[in-house]
Amino acid sequence: MDYFSILVVDDEVDFLETLVKRLQKRNIDTVGVTSGEKALETMVNKRFDVVILDIKMPGGMDGIETLREIKRHQPLAEVILLTGHGSVETSIEGMKMGAFDYLLKPIKLEDLMVKLGEAFEKKDLQEQKIRKARIKELIRFPGRVFQQEKEE
Ligand SMILES: [Mg+2]
Repeated sequence: MDYFSILVVDDEVDFLETLVKRLQKRNIDTVGVTSGEKALETMVNKRFDVVILDIKMPGGMDGIETLREIKRHQPLAEVILLTGHGSVETSIEGMKMGAFDYLLKPIKLEDLMVKLGEAFEKKDLQEQKIRKARIKELIRFPGRVFQQEKEE
């Protein structure tokens, strides 16, 4: 599965390191960062398929704010929120903002793997749809496609 890439964002360093190691052990290309700011910085240079995002983070950006920025810059990245029992409402708000789903902490790796599989599948389908739409556009309006390329 090394063609999938995951970004894990969580301020709890022990949790973060353990999760990143476990995913890497399964040959998933995984990067871990401890804040929303670092997540956005990392996403400037690398495209991620799925972001696993902690809702409660201290400092400037919490999970919801980070989610908003992720969706603005990489709308196709699927986001799985990590939440405590106290912040399920916030996760629901996050899903309305485009997060794929949420998991309650403490998470079980097996539950996370199931959600990751679903998120990868959704993203794959979405990308296929976009490719097909591009091909249709190319066949129907070859002139327009060439014109667009010229303008770029
Ligand atoms: Mg936290």
